Amino acid sequence: MKKLMAANWKMNKTLAEAGATATDLAARVEQRLAADREVLIIPPFTALAAVAKAVSGAAGFFVGAQDFYPKDKGAFTGEIAPAQILDCGAVYALTGHSERRHVLGETDAFVGQKTAYGLGSGLKVILCVGERIEERRAGKVEEVLTRQLLAGLADVPRDQDPENLVVAYEPVWAIGTGEVAGPAEIVEAHALVRSRLGRKFGANGGKIRILYGGSVKPENCAEIMSLDNVDGVLVGGASLSAESFSAIVTA
Ligand code: PEP
Repeated sequence: MKKLMAANWKMNKTLAEAGATATDLAARVEQRLAADREVLIIPPFTALAAVAKAVSGAAGFFVGAQDFYPKDKGAFTGEIAPAQILDCGAVYALTGHSERRHVLGETDAFVGQKTAYGLGSGLKVILCVGERIEERRAGKVEEVLTRQLLAGLADVPRDQDPENLVVAYEPVWAIGTGEVAGPAEIVEAHALVRSRLGRKFGANGGKIRILYGGSVKPENCAEIMSLDNVDGVLVGGASLSAESFSAIVTA
């Protein structure tokens, strides 16, 4: 199972900036990328094709979308279909990122609908889950993660190819705050996710990558990557510069 080092650029970068950062990143990383690691760039929709072109010759590099709508085409103004993402040269997509859940109001059920639809459309899907600080303080981490995983995976078939499904544990309180979860918190949450994946997918649950996300930086990445059941990282702020993200990828 290759580790996945993912850069979520959110609503940042012009076309020119995205292409330049991707090109710079590929140049910095290409010769130094460990054989067991993959790099994923998740730019805004507007830059998907440009970033895919910029990294097309870079071994181990992939491109993904931050979101999609669970239909193949039609009257869904402002939305993007999985086929349009694939058409840009991107192969991954996120579902359930905390900003979509908590800023844009996406429900657990809608996240589940998208996850199954994306996988069925040929995308590799990264389902994001994570508790808010008040839920952690109330001792509800297990309850929240279980609810999000059950709903998020409800319509995913039990014989799902584990290579195409990834889960990202991203505690909401650690996203963009500089406050990284502690090693014990990460290990506990990832073990819980792993056990839920085992219940749903049997032995294949052990082959599904689980990423950690939340204020990952060059300085803390190596320690996080060394933890049990951490199969990669999903990085926001520190992925915006090629210098910083290349240090994470090679940490
Ligand atoms: C994210 O957006 O998924 C994220 C983890 O952001 P940051 O690294 O900035 O906390």
